[in-house]
Amino acid sequence: MMEMNVCGTSTWMTQELEGFRDAVRRFVASEVAPHQQRWREQQHVDRALWHKGGAMGILCADIPEQYGGSDGSFAHQAIVFEELGYAGDMAFGIHVHAIVAHYLLNQGTEAQKRKYLPKLASGEMVAAIAMSEPGAGSDLKGIRTSAVRTADGYKVNGSKTFISNGYLADLVLVVVKTDLEAGARGVSLLLLETKDNPGFRVGRILEKVGQKGQDTCELFFDDAHVALDNVLGGVEGQGFAQLMTELPYERTILGVAGVAAIERALRLTVDYTRERRAFGQALIEMQNTRFVLAEVKTEATVARIFIDRCIEDTIAGRMDTVRASMAKYWISDLQCKAVDQCVQLFGGYGYMLEYPIAQMYVDARVQRIYGGANEIMKEIVARSL
Ligand SMILES: Cc1cc2nc3c(=O)[nH]c(=O)nc-3n(C[C@H](O)[C@H](O)[C@H](O)COP(=O)(O)OP(=O)(O)OC[C@H]3O[C@@H](n4cnc5c(N)ncnc54)[C@H](O)[C@@H]3O)c2cc1C
Repeated sequence: MMEMNVCGTSTWMTQELEGFRDAVRRFVASEVAPHQQRWREQQHVDRALWHKGGAMGILCADIPEQYGGSDGSFAHQAIVFEELGYAGDMAFGIHVHAIVAHYLLNQGTEAQKRKYLPKLASGEMVAAIAMSEPGAGSDLKGIRTSAVRTADGYKVNGSKTFISNGYLADLVLVVVKTDLEAGARGVSLLLLETKDNPGFRVGRILEKVGQKGQDTCELFFDDAHVALDNVLGGVEGQGFAQLMTELPYERTILGVAGVAAIERALRLTVDYTRERRAFGQALIEMQNTRFVLAEVKTEATVARIFIDRCIEDTIAGRMDTVRASMAKYWISDLQCKAVDQCVQLFGGYGYMLEYPIAQMYVDARVQRIYGGANEIMKEIVARSL
């Protein structure tokens, strides 16, 4: 496959990482790409994919070996997201899975890490994170799902919506109120196991505009059980602080995936406009096509250089909330704009879902909404002025 990276290679790449990228690329080509249409139809990936991903060592690529991870750095995890992006995959919810693994690694107790991380790394357990509710998404202080102490743990009541990996999830990190009166200090994160938990129910897989292979679900809790030991970090009321600490990782990931999508859209469109002819010449010979693609390439390059710096800083543990918010909002805005410009150059074929660029168009839109709406990202950036 021709190199997608608009800069040829990234500043943080090494020879060892090139070998890892080749292996991930082969895995995606054999285990992901051939199944995408079927996953869209069934609205979720196969559970077997999670086991294969576990065996391949890509589910928890940057989690230490002592917890069953592959002991890599964020570079390894970023390569996994890039390669999925280059294949146009929006179904395999590794992103959310890796996010939950990081909550456990950074915020969990030693016992929680030992219990769950090896199972997330192997694919024995699929993870989801459930923050959003029908009545509260951006304003997480407004959530109503509650957890009440019982003799042996917690009873959780309420509902969540738009939860990625919701249908297949074995472990859901649920944002709840353990104290309804305490505002942000009353928020806790609970590790809820979905198996043999009669109070937990998965609603329908939601019918989305795009990303149809991803099992985005409603979840219902009706006296759902959570063990006493399963408050993340072991202490109630830490949830809001834990969210604030971990959300930058999620937002950086969205930036990484966004840049990969822009690079793929550019490559697809250059190839197409070289082939397609009108008025006696290839589309790419027309000045408008050349100028549009020159703009997309320039913006893709600016985005690539920016995200490479974000990746380097995440590897080094110095990525900050403000920059992660900039990456999330600016790159997702750019992704939607660039993909839209590319669709235009495909003409009518750009609107046909059998063409990858059309699929990218419907898949891109939500990048500006989830992971924190872009307006919320700007609020965070604005607070730093
Ligand atoms: C496909 C998909 C997957 C998702 N996966 C998950 C998941 O795995 N886990 C999870 O917990 N959630 C998930 N979500 C939910 C997602 O994070 C929320 O949709 C998002 O945070 C926005 O919340 P909301 O939908 O309640 O919109 P609202 O909070 O109602 O906001 C609506 C709009 O109002 C505007 N707005 C809101 N607040 C402000 C403000 N302060 N200033 C300016 N404008 C504002 C923004 O334009 C915003 O888009 C997913 C959503 C989708 C669509």
